[in-house]
Amino acid sequence: MVMMRVLFTVCLLCIPSFPAAPPSPPTVNEYLFMVQARGVQIRENVRSIGVQVLEQVVRGAYSNGTDYTYDFNLSEPHFETTTYLPEGFTYHPDQKCPEKLPSMKGPVDVNMSEVTLLEVEKSLLEADVSLSLGGHWKPQDCMARWKVAILVPFRNRHEHLPILLRHLIPALQRQRLQFGIYVIEQAGNEPFNRAMLFNVGFREAMKDIKWDCMVFHDVDHILENDRNYYGCEKMPRHFAVKLNKYSYMLPYNEFFGGVSGLTAEQFRRINGFPNAFWGWGGEDDDLWNRVHFAGYRVSRPPGDIGRYMSIPHHHRGEVQFLGRYTLLRRSKERQKVDGLNNLNYAPRVSRSPLYTNVTVHLTRELAPVADY
Ligand code: UDP
Ligand code: BGC
Ligand code: MN
Repeated sequence: MVMMRVLFTVCLLCIPSFPAAPPSPPTVNEYLFMVQARGVQIRENVRSIGVQVLEQVVRGAYSNGTDYTYDFNLSEPHFETTTYLPEGFTYHPDQKCPEKLPSMKGPVDVNMSEVTLLEVEKSLLEADVSLSLGGHWKPQDCMARWKVAILVPFRNRHEHLPILLRHLIPALQRQRLQFGIYVIEQAGNEPFNRAMLFNVGFREAMKDIKWDCMVFHDVDHILENDRNYYGCEKMPRHFAVKLNKYSYMLPYNEFFGGVSGLTAEQFRRINGFPNAFWGWGGEDDDLWNRVHFAGYRVSRPPGDIGRYMSIPHHHRGEVQFLGRYTLLRRSKERQKVDGLNNLNYAPRVSRSPLYTNVTVHLTRELAPVADY
């Protein structure tokens, strides 16, 4: 049935049907225009056929109760105009590192095989890369354009963390960013609270260094393109636009999950993440709302730059947060009273060679919400 519809569309729209006898011979320019227009039309048809096929496939695969709808409105790919610097480019220690470097080659070889932290550490050393204790690094051959704190929410995903670091650390180095990696680990038996962990991570990281940009990074998201620049010029930014587990399509226009970033100043302005989302879901949607209520717009990397592979995992008993829709209806009022400004906690901070661990026992009493 799908195929018939597709073929029918092809037959109707793509095959040229020139009139038998044109009233007067067109000029060369008119011919050129006709050929060009025909090309555009064929391209559009191919796109719409592709979308129709995808629609059928995805609807079939996801018709069993996921709670978002796919956005099939695929817009024109956007091409960046500034070019990457040539191979022989020389750096100067007293000049800012450029944003588009010869070291940023684009596609990354993703290796999902399990590895230990020690092995990752050793292979970085072999590549002559040394981080300072706590997973901090800055380039020596030019001045880092941005100081970026990477915050990773964490509980019981020990096999994921080394896989993430194996890809992320070299990519950030190729981007010549100053960075620190913070793994914010939730202790205690409450449902997981990704958003509150990010708030804790922000406050703790800022005690180390005055970071410019914060990148909120799921532990199981592996970037597939090192031109996905983690500096903060274009923030607020949604980095994880195309995920393999969503067939490399944005699930819905307001999707802000996986990997996102704000400047430290923007994060303070929006009062951080909400603390009240216990369990899976909704906290990233609330962050989207906060960003827009504060008058910002979210940017995204163009084309295939925002591709990620997600490490396959099970939810291991993690509960869905069913109250998320109720909270999301009050995003605006709650933004003032729940976030960075009502959060108390007592962290345990420890430094390993590849990251700083902030362990925090989270309970609901830590973030009391005043009337709103
Ligand atoms: N997470 C974690 N342990 C958990 C649940 C979540 O470390 O038990 C962190 C981890 O960084 C993960 C992120 O929170 O990548 C988002 O959770 P999850 O991967 O379960 O969400 P999904 O991929 O289903 O959107
Ligand atoms: C949830 C988000 C989640 C998204 C994609 C939404 O329904 O509220 O938290 O990121 O689905 O899985
Ligand atoms: Mn995940």
